[in-house]
Amino acid sequence: MVTRPNEAPPNEFNPWLHVASLIERAGQLLGLSDGMIKRIIAPERVLEVAVPVRMDSGDVEMFTGWRIQHDTSRGPGKGGIRFHQSVNADEIAALSADMSIKCAVVNIPYGGAKGGVKVDPSSLSRGELERLTRRYAFSIAPMIGPDRDIPAPDINTDFQVMSWIMDTVSMLRGHNTPGVVTGKPLSIGGTMGHAGATSLGVTICTTALLQRLGRMANEQRVVIQGYGKVGAPLVKLLSDRGMKVVGVADIKGAIHVPEGINPQVMAKHFAEAGTVVGYPGSDTVPADQLFTLPSDIAIPAALGGVVTEEVASSMSASIMVEAANGPTTGEGAAVLASRGIPVIPDVLANAGGVVASYFEWAQDLQGFMWETELFTQRLEKTMSEAFNYVWTRHQELNVTLRETALAVGVERIAEATEVRGLFP
Ligand code: NAD
Repeated sequence: MVTRPNEAPPNEFNPWLHVASLIERAGQLLGLSDGMIKRIIAPERVLEVAVPVRMDSGDVEMFTGWRIQHDTSRGPGKGGIRFHQSVNADEIAALSADMSIKCAVVNIPYGGAKGGVKVDPSSLSRGELERLTRRYAFSIAPMIGPDRDIPAPDINTDFQVMSWIMDTVSMLRGHNTPGVVTGKPLSIGGTMGHAGATSLGVTICTTALLQRLGRMANEQRVVIQGYGKVGAPLVKLLSDRGMKVVGVADIKGAIHVPEGINPQVMAKHFAEAGTVVGYPGSDTVPADQLFTLPSDIAIPAALGGVVTEEVASSMSASIMVEAANGPTTGEGAAVLASRGIPVIPDVLANAGGVVASYFEWAQDLQGFMWETELFTQRLEKTMSEAFNYVWTRHQELNVTLRETALAVGVERIAEATEVRGLFP
């Protein structure tokens, strides 16, 4: 059950009610009617499924899964599937609403959706994981499809899980259905360029903000938290554009390299050591000191909720770009705003991944694969236009970039909802 406002225990943080309140505020900023705000907030479809799995021992265990379509006024639902022991309906509802906003901000023809199973996948064998995935896919199959709702990888799900879902749905429908999920391997309808697309989007937004602020790329020192799928390509992409990455952290610690990290040397070091710590010539610093290192741009690219009031107060950088999802707490955001630090919010900064998914789906529907150059060119265009539009509205609305991006998303959803009217 997705919690309704009058059902929530007071003073307990609820991610769904938090997102709902943000959408409400954006709607009020735009002068939308109460009826329209209520329509935009309410999730369209919430499906909870029981997922029985035969374990290797022969016993049957029960898991619970969800798929939630928050809004499909602009197109089919889009959003990842996560497997995690903390998953619940409110979390999935909040993430589905985030996806509605993100897809609208970058103006791709999708609504927002999200799914998940409450399970610790590290406790499953590969066979158990496949059986869980296929049973969950079977149970949500009536709701997903290339013209309904298109899942993608998220926490603890990857190309293999997407391949099993694609296969399960294809078997059910009796024909190949590659457009039912994105994040697939190339051999079954994946796209060139997907890996690194989120980091490229972050880089495009960062460069565009520097231009707007009249700052030279080659004078910027960057610190990045996270050296994973998003953080690692960022070190190279930002360095290629003249910026100096002077600090990086991963789960094992943080390093400081005032003269700038060499991306190739770092990639080699990481491949051997499995951590950024120990990069030749670096100083090791306490992980919680990363954002205090002398720098101009801070990029959280790891966990949610890390930029707290305290971290925001001591941050050295004068620009922040949210590569991670939800890295800033409400209090942290207020401090950054009061310090006049522009923040490119996650719904814009890290949307390169969902734009790549859109391109993969478009290719699957066309049955025509693009070259990497075309993919990159179109990603750059989509992300630059999204940044420019948010920037223009930021000047008009005179609120933070975060509030502007949310308002842009809500405005586009409202426009589609209004013009479609109310059925019946
Ligand atoms: P990942 O698992 O590949 O990498 C995570 C990185 O964070 C690793 O380097 C890990 O060591 C580091 N890390 C973990 N705990 C840390 C800690 N306490 N301190 C410092 N570093 C720590 O994940 P990813 O795919 O790179 O995703 C990173 C963030 O970006 C997440 O918030 C994710 O939701 C968001 N995101 C990812 C994509 C994508 O395309 N992968 C798209 C949109 C948003």
